Amino acid sequence: MAVLAPSLARARTEINSRWPRRDHSSDGWIGDPAHRTRPSDHNPNRRGVVDAIDIDVDGINCALLVAILITHPAVNYVIWNRRIWSRSRGFKVARYTGSDPHTNHIHCSILQTVAAENHTAPWHIATGVDVVPVVQPPTGGGPVEATWASRLARALPTVKSGSSGRTVRRVQALLNVASGPILGEDGGFGPKTDAAARAFQRVYGLTVDGVVGDHTWAALLGKLPTLRHGATGIEVRRLQSLLNVFNAGLREDGVFGAGTEAAVRAFQTRYALGRDGVAGPITYTALLTR
Ligand SMILES: [Zn+2]
Repeated sequence: MAVLAPSLARARTEINSRWPRRDHSSDGWIGDPAHRTRPSDHNPNRRGVVDAIDIDVDGINCALLVAILITHPAVNYVIWNRRIWSRSRGFKVARYTGSDPHTNHIHCSILQTVAAENHTAPWHIATGVDVVPVVQPPTGGGPVEATWASRLARALPTVKSGSSGRTVRRVQALLNVASGPILGEDGGFGPKTDAAARAFQRVYGLTVDGVVGDHTWAALLGKLPTLRHGATGIEVRRLQSLLNVFNAGLREDGVFGAGTEAAVRAFQTRYALGRDGVAGPITYTALLTR
């Protein structure tokens, strides 16, 4: 009779306790017949233990869960959303090219050892880690693409612990878009901002030093597409968060409606930009440098 490794059973219990209403339909642990014909951590090993679980992505915070899982001493690798974080690579993110893109579930394998199967280190899932970002890893797999946004990122000032001012407020606003509203946007780069920046860097495979330089800026900014009335999505949330650094008072809902358009026009008026209500490179540049 196969059993799930006790350490993973505890992880699952913590996941259920943190997200009690989550969807379980893509959950799993023991391999289906398709798994039995090939090596898989979902097959019982010679001890009769299964060293992998799948967790449905619906109703949980996937990036937060990944960020927590890859810090546990028993974990060997995690796969989610065409990305793999493996111990052999120091848990730096890499593109995953297996046939299943893992967009419906997060796969977590522990090391194939008795010690890992019975590891008693707490997972810190149920209790929560305050400052771990809710990010979508960059789509593309490699370094951030050379877009005008990454060129702009290279022109922005580097900020780190001890920095203050509007640039820090922008960093806090963008981290909050990535993380859920975790940080106060007070313009002071203190320990919480430092921890949020480091967690963001870890999930994005950047150097984890808490220093927001060009690579971290580029990851925080994304591609900065031109946005107009009717646009939706995380890019709109980024735009709204930057407008709010200038006290636009917008709800950051990711929907470019009349309120966001009015805020863009007001900002353009204030800085004597073309007053068209469309956020393009000139408006973004002003939002990030004024
Ligand atoms: Zn799996």
